[in-house]
Amino acid sequence: MLLSDELDIQSGCTVCAEDQQAIKLDGLPEFSVCRKYAQVVQDTLISLIRQGEKINSVIGYRVGRTRGEMNAQGNRSGFSNHSFGIAIDINTDHNGLYGNCVQFGPRCKLLRAGPWRPGDDPYSLQADGLIVKTFKQAGFKWGGEIEGQQKDFMHFSLTGY
Ligand SMILES: [Zn+2]
Repeated sequence: MLLSDELDIQSGCTVCAEDQQAIKLDGLPEFSVCRKYAQVVQDTLISLIRQGEKINSVIGYRVGRTRGEMNAQGNRSGFSNHSFGIAIDINTDHNGLYGNCVQFGPRCKLLRAGPWRPGDDPYSLQADGLIVKTFKQAGFKWGGEIEGQQKDFMHFSLTGY
């Protein structure tokens, strides 16, 4: 039995572990995403790795409420898109979450994970890079391009939040 906020209406995915599917790729720790999106996430990552893109960590489904993350309306929400298995984080140590960051610059404050150094750090994602482009083609939005105070450079989801 699901509570109303345990189902994500847009994706049809839930917070339940049974609705998640594990993905194991060469050289990466296993992670899980919502079954509905497992194939597209796996195919996209395999294609990027084959093309030589630098990926050393992927995080998907994360159990529990992670308060503090923003939803598309900019409100704090009980469940983040990771709780539904519909968001992934790539190379967290090189693609941080920043606050005070309507536009990226020296005043942005690193809130979580490692610093974002596009161009200098090959594991940092770039707006015009293949990883961002390919996930966008697959229907995902990038947290590095979301509106508002935060930029989440590791993060991809249907809404970007
Ligand atoms: Zn994330």
